[in-house]
Amino acid sequence: MKISIIGTGYVGLTIGACLADKGISVLCMDIDEAKIENLKKGIIPIYEPGLETLVQKTYDNGTLSFTTSAKEAIQFATIVISAVGTPPKPDGSSDLTFIKEVLKAFGKHINSYKIYVNKSTVPVGTGDLCKQIIKEEIVKRGENIEFDVISNPEFLREGNAIYDIQFPDRIIIGSDSQKAKDLLTTLYKKLGEEDVDILYTDIKTAEIIKYASNAMLATKISFINEIANFCELAGGDVRAVAKGIGLDKRIGKSFLNAGVGYGGSCFPKDVAALIHTGKEHGYDFEIIQAVQNTNEKQKLSLLNKLKKQIGPLQNKHIAIWGLAFKPETDDMREAPSLKTIKDLQVEGAQIHAFDPVATKTAQSYIEPLNITYHTDMYEAAKDADALLILTEWNTFRTADLQKLKELMKTPLLLDGRNIYEHEAMQSLGFTYICVGQKHDEKTIRQLKTIKNAVFG
Ligand code: NAD
Repeated sequence: MKISIIGTGYVGLTIGACLADKGISVLCMDIDEAKIENLKKGIIPIYEPGLETLVQKTYDNGTLSFTTSAKEAIQFATIVISAVGTPPKPDGSSDLTFIKEVLKAFGKHINSYKIYVNKSTVPVGTGDLCKQIIKEEIVKRGENIEFDVISNPEFLREGNAIYDIQFPDRIIIGSDSQKAKDLLTTLYKKLGEEDVDILYTDIKTAEIIKYASNAMLATKISFINEIANFCELAGGDVRAVAKGIGLDKRIGKSFLNAGVGYGGSCFPKDVAALIHTGKEHGYDFEIIQAVQNTNEKQKLSLLNKLKKQIGPLQNKHIAIWGLAFKPETDDMREAPSLKTIKDLQVEGAQIHAFDPVATKTAQSYIEPLNITYHTDMYEAAKDADALLILTEWNTFRTADLQKLKELMKTPLLLDGRNIYEHEAMQSLGFTYICVGQKHDEKTIRQLKTIKNAVFG
């Protein structure tokens, strides 16, 4: 069996390598020539656990190959998977420029029956657009070649992408063609996913399932962040609250970690796109809008706590541990650290940052103003007036806290991911401020004042 993948990014490359690992002959195509050249040399453009080994193994044994030729990729296989980016436009809508380029190429180069499988996250109705653009291109050539379109949204989590592809919770196949559904089902069976739930739907339903899934997960995060903010004022520990409610099977335990807000390449853009698509269809997503508003406020929460502790930040040495939007990735898209660092730069702080893998990527997102990147986490914290933890990397959980305390000018630790125990940190001599945990009366009064000033 042969598969083509157009768009060799986080999704395309990982799926390509996983399919190739099952013995399927995979051709990955990208317009980024440097990326393809590097991949041919064994240089992987992203950090994803296990991916480098898998790509190398499958490239070396010949099941995975790379090209920059759209024609070659489209003519290589019957199933052509598109996994190009759908970045957000300033108004929140989804930018379909890359998708349209692929569709035009597909229509231009199709030479026998093929299935265009859309793995990118696209607004409802894009399936119709796909059919229209492909058809127009075929007609331009004076040809009449049969094709089908499938919406097959991807649900992998960066940092766990290989596992998620190998052991998905479910597979959604949205299509109006039985032939196309059967072929894609055969592919997934080859992947060894005999027992996985495959849900067959129409194209529009499949497109909505993807947005609804991400909006639901973002809702859980914003919900627990609101409960965390309430705990800080009323008392209680949000971690125990999350556990207490998560034990209810109807609610579930996951996505109930309070923090500094969600980020990444998917939730912010998909929430914004859903709100935008809703408006286009005359619908106001009130809950989803509130989720987005809560998340924006949450991104400010740690810095407000910092200012309350040390006042003006001008020339203060602020250490940051964690830049990536979550652990086990170097993806910086919409990472909460970006907002925090920008605000620190505006306030004139001297920033000293450390991330186990995302520093290089971060540098292309962050203005080089008052910021020093360190390759050692303790170096970043040396002589710091405060340390902010923004990503819950395991290496921070096992940090030598005694050493950290001795290195810092002031042992003030603001933990945006709740990775340490309050009492333990206090007994080590830290002023430890985290998310959604009980504070003393004085702190509660001060937090109330700040929240009123910021949020009204
Ligand atoms: P990405 O930016 O990492 O990769 C996209 C790739 O497409 C890039 O390498 C780019 O050069 C390439 N590209 C752009 N135009 C092209 C063209 N005309 N022909 C060939 N290649 C082209 O994006 P990603 O994170 O892999 O996401 C891809 C899609 O999958 C998006 O719609 C995203 O929302 C969705 N998705 C992403 C994730 C995730 O965790 N990253 C999870 C599920 C779904």
